[in-house]
Amino acid sequence: MAYQHIKLPETGEKVRVVDNKLQVPDQPILGFIEGDGIGPDITNACLRVWDAAVAKAYGERRKVHWAELYLGEKAAGIYDGDYFPAETLEAIQDLMVAIKGPLTTPVGGGFRSLNVSLRQTLDLYACVRPVKYYQGVPSPLRKPEEIDVVIFRENTEDVYAGLEYQSGTEENKKLAKFLREEMGAEFFQDAGLGIKPISEFGSKRLVRKAIEFAIEKQRDSVTLVHKGNIMKFTEGAFRQWGYEVAAQEYGEHTITEDEVWEKHDGKAPAGKIVIKDRIADIMFQLMQLRPGEFDVLATMNLNGDYLSDALAAEVGGIGIAPGANFADHIGVFEATHGTAPKYAGQDKVNPSSLLFSGAMMFDYIGWTEVGRLIENAFEKVVGQQVVTYDFARMLDNATTVSTSGFADHLIDAINQS
Ligand code: NAP
Repeated sequence: MAYQHIKLPETGEKVRVVDNKLQVPDQPILGFIEGDGIGPDITNACLRVWDAAVAKAYGERRKVHWAELYLGEKAAGIYDGDYFPAETLEAIQDLMVAIKGPLTTPVGGGFRSLNVSLRQTLDLYACVRPVKYYQGVPSPLRKPEEIDVVIFRENTEDVYAGLEYQSGTEENKKLAKFLREEMGAEFFQDAGLGIKPISEFGSKRLVRKAIEFAIEKQRDSVTLVHKGNIMKFTEGAFRQWGYEVAAQEYGEHTITEDEVWEKHDGKAPAGKIVIKDRIADIMFQLMQLRPGEFDVLATMNLNGDYLSDALAAEVGGIGIAPGANFADHIGVFEATHGTAPKYAGQDKVNPSSLLFSGAMMFDYIGWTEVGRLIENAFEKVVGQQVVTYDFARMLDNATTVSTSGFADHLIDAINQS
């Protein structure tokens, strides 16, 4: 495929899907998007660390051939003001695996978030956020090491679907009239109105992805998080469809929590993944008091948004939380924080969110040794209290290093391992 501005590397091969499975060559071409604000600082640091970890793990046998793709401000400079060039989307679909820095949402009439547009255009329906504690990271919890969960958040539905009608507009009045007169609904005059679509299709494909992950990674449980006691036909339906997909499609791998108590005296049979559910509000409490009881979490869009950031705060905050967005096969890995414009170009911020998103990416393509090398190096360096400013202000005797300096320490630790 010929691109206008994107230059694919001359060496390396594309990742492919064969028989519904990702097929990754030893010399894959993977996409990266630098991002805006602090994006270039963290991306340049991370590319060096990822390459060092791959070289350490596989010598010359394996190497990533990086293809730079453009979104956001850098794209606007190259594509004549276009922040969201069509050929970048084509390239992500073609390469299947890409990693991106944060993107500015330009302020101005009707401009949609580039991240939301990307998710919707590529139908990246599952936002996946692992939340895990690394030794040495400052945490407000007494036993943060008990936290090791992976959140699967539905990315396309819920109150984020964009079905909102502003108070006072003709559309709002029309909908309000219909709801009052045809449906017998009662609500205050001039209320802004929003619609919360939760479908069987959207719920099941998200829960399916969470269960498949749990099976592949031999995790213990999948918890359906919902507020179905109040919103019965949306959040309650999500819970119902979640249990259905588990029983109908993964019956040999799963067991419900009720069955564990009824038939197995509260102890899950070996090899079975327990499917359970919890109400969203109690989930926030449980994840502070008894986080060790949870493993994979499946949530709708809004609950997952809140929960991901709240849990990230328990293990070091957004400067370190990794994430990815998936369609059936396409994976776009990303820093979960924003562009932090006040720090742009200062070589100051923590690159760990993007770094660990890269570790997730290597897990996704099956190069699991790379992620472990990165995690071990991180624990070694942070364990010596060598950290960027954000961690330094939570520690007593830290040595503060720059973004690139932190990467240098990680690379040394990788090479010495
Ligand atoms: P932000 O960029 O995430 O920054 C908020 C604060 O979080 C920073 O001031 C900093 O805290 C801390 N922080 C963020 N990244 C950090 C890092 N790598 N290391 C250490 N600390 C970090 O949020 P924002 O200021 O609300 O948003 C700025 C822009 O980013 C907006 O245009 C927004 O639309 C965009 N955004 C993009 C994404 C994305 O692309 N995924 C996500 C969120 C926001 P201190 O000031 O306390 O040091």
